[in-house]
Amino acid sequence: MLLKPEIKLERVTDITPQILNKYDINSLILDVDNTLSTHHGQILTDGLPEWLELMKENGIFLTVLSNSKEARVKPFAEKINLEYISLGLKPLPNGFLKAKKKYGLKFKNTAIVGDQIFTDILGGNLVGLRTILLTPIKLETTYGFRFKRWVERIVFKLYKIKNTEE
Ligand SMILES: [Mg+2]
Repeated sequence: MLLKPEIKLERVTDITPQILNKYDINSLILDVDNTLSTHHGQILTDGLPEWLELMKENGIFLTVLSNSKEARVKPFAEKINLEYISLGLKPLPNGFLKAKKKYGLKFKNTAIVGDQIFTDILGGNLVGLRTILLTPIKLETTYGFRFKRWVERIVFKLYKIKNTEE
């Protein structure tokens, strides 16, 4: 079940303090591309500033972990005022373990939030993190990505992955 997310929602802004409380999650490690913005975009997805505020008000710890380069991640993380780790190598444990050490995270109360099964969810499950899968904001057009999304659709069917009810 390494490919199956514990929670599946549409948008990052669908994550509420109530859901996190119900699942005993108090920290979120956030992916960037197609989770907080479009792939390599610098524009914040709708409602993101308000959502970040809501999370902070409810004492949810937030940080950013992206596989993208520093030049892409840094300006975005600065925009939303969060610390970040770039070149995270998800699904390898490197970035997750770095975040754990840096912020003293407890993985049983921490979720990776991302849009990709083979990086975010697989990586999270491999290190014992909680996992929240989102629908990508805008589908990528490159062949590599289109193949990945095609394989993801098979996983969705295989594991009967559906949106989590509140
Ligand atoms: Mg992503």
